[in-house]
Amino acid sequence: MESIFSKIVKGTIPAYKVAEDDRFLAFLDISPLQPGHTLVVPKKQVDEIFELEDSLLADLHVFAKQVAVGIKQATGASRIGMAVIGFEVPHAHIHLIPINNMDDMNF
Ligand code: ADP
Repeated sequence: MESIFSKIVKGTIPAYKVAEDDRFLAFLDISPLQPGHTLVVPKKQVDEIFELEDSLLADLHVFAKQVAVGIKQATGASRIGMAVIGFEVPHAHIHLIPINNMDDMNF
């Protein structure tokens, strides 16, 4: 079944795109923990991140690093947190979350 993130990749549902190349897409989380909370996904749909072949898994992280640098500049956050959880949406994704003060977080 096509995941909600595959629909975003194909453009059948909208998202605010932050960065994109032929293999990866970064877009704003619809329910952000902090302003600038971004999701980074492989365009190829796999359920969890550890199903990606090694080279794609590595390149996803390099792409996420480039996105994180941009988010840090854009938000002025003191650092960018990265999380891989995957409770619900069956499409591998990395969370990039601007962090200033842990008291701001709404986990
Ligand atoms: P987690 O990775 O934290 O376990 P989920 O797999 O449940 O969480 O969800 C991943 C994230 O996707 C959530 O932070 C949620 O807000 C976000 N999300 C769900 N639908 C959309 C959407 N249409 N556009 C942008 N973000 C979305």
